[in-house]
Amino acid sequence: MKDHPFEGWLHHQGIHLTEKQSHQFDLYYRMLVDWNKKVNLTSLTDRDDVYEKHFYDSLSATFFHDFQKDNSIIDIGAGAGFPSLPIKICYPHLHIVIVDSLKKRIAFLESLVKELNVENVSFVHGRAEDVAHDTSHREQYDIAIARAVAKMPVLTELCLPFVKKDGVFMALKGSNGINEKEEAGKACRTIGGRWLSPHALTLPNEESERYILTMEKVDATPRKYPRKAGTPAKKPLL
Ligand code: SAM
Repeated sequence: MKDHPFEGWLHHQGIHLTEKQSHQFDLYYRMLVDWNKKVNLTSLTDRDDVYEKHFYDSLSATFFHDFQKDNSIIDIGAGAGFPSLPIKICYPHLHIVIVDSLKKRIAFLESLVKELNVENVSFVHGRAEDVAHDTSHREQYDIAIARAVAKMPVLTELCLPFVKKDGVFMALKGSNGINEKEEAGKACRTIGGRWLSPHALTLPNEESERYILTMEKVDATPRKYPRKAGTPAKKPLL
C-alpha cells in the first residue's frame, strides 16, 4: 500500500503504522471484497473508498479519545467490522467484543480475525437489546462504539447500557450528527449518560463531514433499559 495516502493521513493524526499493520489493512481489504461477492457486507469495493470511508473513518474515533489507556470495547452492529477492527489493528492490546444480529456477517468476521492473526476479539450473535441484559456484558466495557446502526436516541439505548461507570459511548456520525445529538438529550439522561463535547472532522480526500458524539457513563442504567428488541426503534426516548 505504499502508493496509497492512507498511511500519510494517519501519520498526520499521530498514528504510525508498522509493516505488519499495513499488511493487515491490505488483507482486510482483500477479504472484504472477496466475501462481498457472496455475503452483503459493503456497498464500497473500490480500494480508495474502502481505505478512506471505512478504515480511516473508523479510526477517526481514536483522534479524539486515548484508546491506549482503555482495555475493552464493545462494537454494536459492527457489520463488516467497522469501526472496531481497524481500531484493533492500530491498538492491538484492546479486548474487542462485536455484537451483530446478522449471522453471515459474524461468519465473515470470524474468518477475517483468524486471517489477521489478532487475539482477544470475540463475537456475540444477537440483538443489542437482549445482549445488554446479560450480566457478563452489562456495564462491563470501557467503551461502547457504533457506526451506521441507528439514530442517536435509539443508539444510546442500545449502546450505553454496556458501558461501565466512567466509561464512554462513542457514535460515529455523518453530517447530521449535531442535530442527532440534540434529539438524544432525554435518552442520554435516562440511560445514565452525560454528553462530552462533540468533535467534527472532514474526510481527507472526499471531504465529507463527520461527527464523533461521545457520552460519559455517570449513573447506572435503570434495569428496564434497553427495552425489548425493536421497542427502542419503534418508541425512541425523545
Ligand atoms: N457498523 C457497520 C458499519 O459502519 O459499516 C455496519 C453498519 S450496518 C448498516 C448495521 C449493522 O447493525 C448490521 O450488520 C445489522 O445486522 C446490525 N444491527 C442493527 N440493529 C442491531 C441490533 N439491535 N443489535 C445488533 N445488531 C444490530
